[in-house]
Amino acid sequence: MGKNIKNTSIQRKLMRVILVTCAVVLALMCGAYLVFEYFNSKDTIKNNVSTLGVVMASNSSAALAFDSPGDATEILEALKADEHIVAAALYDKNGQLFAKYPADIAANTLPAKPQATGYRFEGSYLVGYQPVVQQSVTMGTLFIQSDLEVMYGQINHLLLIGLLAMIGALIFAYLLSNILQKSISQPILDLETTVDIVSTEHDYSIRAVKTSNDEIGALTDAFNQMLTQIEQQNIAITNSEEASSKLAAIVESSYDAIISKTPQGIITSWNKSAERVLGYTAEEMIGKSILTIIPPDRQNEEPLIIKRLFSGERVENFDTLRLKKDGTLIDISLSISPIRDAKGNIIGFSKIARDITEKKQEEMRKNDFIAIVSHELKTPLTSVKSYIQVLLAIAKKEEATFSINALTRADIQIKKMTTMIQDFLNLARLEDGKMRLNMENFELHPFIEEIVNEAQFLATNHNILFNDCTGIFINADKEKIGQVLNNLLSNAIKYSPKGGNINISCSKIEGKVRIAVTDEGVGINKGDQKKLFDRFYRVKNEKVKTVSGFGIGLYLVSEIVRYHNSKIEVISTEDEGSTFYFDLDIKTK
Ligand code: ADP
Repeated sequence: MGKNIKNTSIQRKLMRVILVTCAVVLALMCGAYLVFEYFNSKDTIKNNVSTLGVVMASNSSAALAFDSPGDATEILEALKADEHIVAAALYDKNGQLFAKYPADIAANTLPAKPQATGYRFEGSYLVGYQPVVQQSVTMGTLFIQSDLEVMYGQINHLLLIGLLAMIGALIFAYLLSNILQKSISQPILDLETTVDIVSTEHDYSIRAVKTSNDEIGALTDAFNQMLTQIEQQNIAITNSEEASSKLAAIVESSYDAIISKTPQGIITSWNKSAERVLGYTAEEMIGKSILTIIPPDRQNEEPLIIKRLFSGERVENFDTLRLKKDGTLIDISLSISPIRDAKGNIIGFSKIARDITEKKQEEMRKNDFIAIVSHELKTPLTSVKSYIQVLLAIAKKEEATFSINALTRADIQIKKMTTMIQDFLNLARLEDGKMRLNMENFELHPFIEEIVNEAQFLATNHNILFNDCTGIFINADKEKIGQVLNNLLSNAIKYSPKGGNINISCSKIEGKVRIAVTDEGVGINKGDQKKLFDRFYRVKNEKVKTVSGFGIGLYLVSEIVRYHNSKIEVISTEDEGSTFYFDLDIKTK
């Protein structure tokens, strides 16, 4: 039954509730009325019969007084008028049966003796004993017995009316509830129809119609709100699906190899170009370790790159080598970006690997060219230099002032050219990975002194100062550190067009010596300071636009210093001057 109720529709449930309530209310009311009627009609019967008893007793008193049973029987016959009086009897004052009604009733069906005065219900009869009194003398007792047909008839009547009323009321309640319940069940049914349409057609743009402001209205609102949210989410999902399929198409059609991997180095995607550049298919590589394509001598780069990425740095145009499927090496330039989840945690890396084989070959050709040209220029230059020096010696001897001046200038230009060619040769060696250091122990002071003297010779407008470095020994490539200082000094001269002091200093700092070159020149702005040491980088500054150069001096300086396990640094303020410095280990002699 309970289960049945659970499974029936709300409409039926409501109908049942209304009808059952109605039936129970009516039944209770009818019941109460019946009980009331039952007691009421009992009282009425009792009153009627006792009135009749009193009348009959008073009528019978004479018959008893004159001891005339015939008269008594006749008097009792008057009871015929009331069909419900089923028996009556008159007892004399000794309690002996005197007369009976109906006359033919068997005496043994009547009480043998009169009992206590009064009227009471016995079974389905009302019996009464009424004393017959004449002038305060009790003459005898009247017995009277009535059936309860009147009462039963009334009750039956009532029951019938009740039943009819109940049927009528139920029919009425049924019709009424049919109309009223629509206001409850119809909105629910409407909601259900909307749910059906949404679930079968997956159309989240429709909305349920709100017809009331009650709980069902609130439910409709909540349902519509839910639909709006689903619709918005759907749009977002469709957009992101579109975006990711566009992205996938871009990745697939990219000319560069695009590979993604987990932070642990497991490959998760591999595009067509990765297949073309490295020879492995996506099926072969997805799920494999990235180390498969990293040559053993380059594997130490990987953790350093990951560390840089985790610290938020970008890794762009990182030139390295990768191992192809056929075992050959390929030059590539890597740009790596982290892949983050919604919370910003790094969950992988995306690598763009550009094949730079051709670029590398082109660079090598250029390098070879520079190396050959520089080398070929060196020999004639050395011979010119020695001729000039011989001529200068002769001119000095002859005290030919004009010749001395002209030859001195020529010597200065030869020196500049020699430094330039030396730079080119070093650049070519560096690019080919052929730069080697010839380490030796030497004392700084005489070394710097010689360089300063030569530089002073070139700088007519500037005053080159240096402090005493006596007793400080270092272990370094003397020629290359010489070139570093020459480059720094020649820059200090070049970029201080108004002249001024140039200071070269050495100071001891925690077992190291810091060598610094300071000028009072044009200075360098913050933005350019970061790029100064890049190959071929030159600052665009109006004040020194006529100063010529190739942008390789500081690149070489920084590389040579790096080869000595140190780093070149710059401090500079525009229009005030610059200081370039680096530290080297102090050696004991
Ligand atoms: P080059 O001097 O041949 O241009 P460098 O590599 O030696 O190349 O220097 C790069 C750039 O740095 C120069 O173009 C110049 O603008 C700037 N620079 C170098 N040294 C100084 C300096 N002492 N003061 C101001 N600018 C300098």
